[in-house]
This record gives sequence, C-alpha cells and structure tokens, in this order.
Amino acid sequence: MQTSSKSNKPTTGTNLEHARLHNRRVVLEAIRQAGRLTRADLTRLTSLTAQTISNIVAELLSESKLSVHAPEKTARGQPPIPLSINPDGGFSIGFHVEQHQIVAVLLDLKGVTRGRRVHAVSYPTFAEALPLLLKCIEWFRRKVSAERLLGIGIALPGPFGVAGMSAVGPTSMPGWDDEQSLALLRERTGLPVLMENDATAAAMGERLYGVAGGLRDFAYLFVGHGLGSGLYLDNRLYSGHWRNAGEIGHVIVVPNGKTCYCGKRGCLERYVSGASLLEHLGVGADQNLSDLDLTDNQHAAGIERWLAEAVPALRHAINVLESLLDPETMLVGGMLSNDILARLIDQSFPLYPSVSGREDRAHARLQLGTAGPDCVALGAAALVVLAELSPDYQALLKA
Ligand SMILES: [Zn+2]
Repeated sequence: MQTSSKSNKPTTGTNLEHARLHNRRVVLEAIRQAGRLTRADLTRLTSLTAQTISNIVAELLSESKLSVHAPEKTARGQPPIPLSINPDGGFSIGFHVEQHQIVAVLLDLKGVTRGRRVHAVSYPTFAEALPLLLKCIEWFRRKVSAERLLGIGIALPGPFGVAGMSAVGPTSMPGWDDEQSLALLRERTGLPVLMENDATAAAMGERLYGVAGGLRDFAYLFVGHGLGSGLYLDNRLYSGHWRNAGEIGHVIVVPNGKTCYCGKRGCLERYVSGASLLEHLGVGADQNLSDLDLTDNQHAAGIERWLAEAVPALRHAINVLESLLDPETMLVGGMLSNDILARLIDQSFPLYPSVSGREDRAHARLQLGTAGPDCVALGAAALVVLAELSPDYQALLKA
C-alpha cells in the first residue's frame, strides 16, 4: 500500500505459484486484448506450451472467467473453439473519495460500468466514511455473486504520508492513508483493498476510457480541490517510491507568491486548483464548488481573475513536466467543468518552448481529458481488474 515504500525483495527468483499466476494473467490479457482467441492462438501468441494453455483455460472456464463461443468451421480435425473474457466472471468496486462527495462504481471484468452511486459528504475521516463505504459495497454485492467480487480500489487526494503536507489545508483528506484503515476495510469485507491517489487513478481511467487510449507516455493533471498529476510512462502507471510521484501541487511556481498551507509560498496548487478558484469567487476554500452555478454571470469576473493567475502557473508546470518526462501529450481534467478547463487549456497556448515542441507530434501538447466525471472511480476499479488480468500488474498496481 501507498504509505510504505517498495520492498527491497529481489525481483529475480520465482516459485511455481507465482509462475502459475503469471501465466494465468498472460492468457487473460492476451484474450482481453484480442477479444477472441482459440487455444491454438494462445499457444502461438504466448509461447506457453499447449498443455499449459489447456490447463489454464480449463481453470479459467471453471471459474467462469471465460466465455466459450461456437466452434470455427474447419475442413478437418477438431474445430477450434474461440474464447473471450466473460464480463460476468469478475467485478470490482471503485471509490473516488473527495472532500465533498464519494462516487462508487461497479465494474465488470470487461471494464463496463454495472452500477454507480454518489453520496454527498463533508471532509469525512475514514472512520466517518466507513459505514457509507460498507453500505455501497453491500448494495453492489446484492447485484452480483459475492464470490465474483475481486476487490475494492479507493482513490483520494494525495500526497500520502508526508509530514506537513498530507494533513493540512482544505485540499487534504487526513486519516485515510494508514494501513490500519485499509486493514479494517479488508477485514469487514473479506476483499482485497487497494488505495491510490486520485490523479494516478484518473490517468488509468483516461487510458482505458478516454482520449489517452493507446498512448504509452502521458501525464494527467488532475484539477480537483487541490492539484496532482498521474504519470503513465512506458505503458504503465508510475507511482513512485512512496506512491507520491506526480504530486506537483506543492512545487513552487511563484517565488514569494501566495502563502500555502504547507508553509511555503507560491505553490502551484495555490493557483491551479478548485480551492484557488473558490477563493477568487469569494467563497471559502473548503466549500463545495459543485454548489455554485459557474455559468451564472455573477461568477464571470472571478473566473477571469482565476484564469489570469492560473494560466502562467500552469504553463510553468507544463514546462517542467514536459522537460522531465518527454510525454506524447499532457492531459488536463478533474472536478472543474469542461468549459472552464477548456478555457484554461486554450489560454495556456502558446506554451513555453520545451523538448515537446516537435513537428512530428501526433497529439497536441496539452489537451482536455474525455473520460468524464467518473474517471477516477473507474480508474480505481480498473486497477483491481487489471491486477487480475495483466501480467504487468505489479507495474500497474503495487499491492
Ligand atoms: Zn504548498
């Protein structure tokens, strides 16, 4: 989990059980990517032996994780039987915990949303939210066979476990990122529970459901109540040694600028975040942005003032991220309306020159995420499914 650093266990050395699980994921991932494959296709594509494929397929069929389709017609011999992922073969629950609401989604093994719930909250601690989480889980559990629930993914604002940053100010959610909380939820549900920061889950959501489909290298700037970025690099999530990679909200972009809750001055999050917009609208930074109608004329001047401050700060952040990561594109998304985010993006051009200023680009340097308001909850749930499916799961999801 995210509060502890990666272990120093050697990466080489395996055992039979590990190899079996790895091979299962290879088979599932190959079928997921192709849509339909026969056993012969799997043998050809995976370099596993026909006997191993046969054993794994039998096991997956017995668990209902695969569907069998009508055999393909052949001139002679045994007709090959196409196999696909059975959407009902497994489900995961994703929670997006924010300062003012909790969104919960139920995802099937093919990644389709099968249930959704939204609850208004106000800076809940884990203990306060626990009954609500359990109620959601119970509600979803009644929709599917309990034994087919693979696990729970929770995404919430970071940074995690950082002295002086993780529990101060209106953008933090203290009391969630401790092992005790997760252990309690595991104990109460009997399910694996994973936690990830909202921007990282959003990057996963955008990769699976939005404009980042097929991209190998991008960063996702998540403008929530605060600000963070999710890093998808070399075709996998990168979450850092302490799960705080991409937490750029407290990078200083305006020397001697606005005082920040973290004790510094001029942090990016003081200019580009929902909380900073609220301040420009003359509302407390701990209020709920969704309570305001931002299309109302009375807020127009405040939004303009916010953009005037946010744009130079964002340009600075993009310059740093592009130079550091050499991404295919940078995405912006989050809790602000698409209209406001689109204005933020438009006004940020021209961006500062950087290594990203190339003629041979296939994507704009900065663009709006398209995965929608459930992006984070979907990403959190998808991480659980990917743990079941992907042979690269340890890179996608550090458990
Ligand atoms: Zn700060």
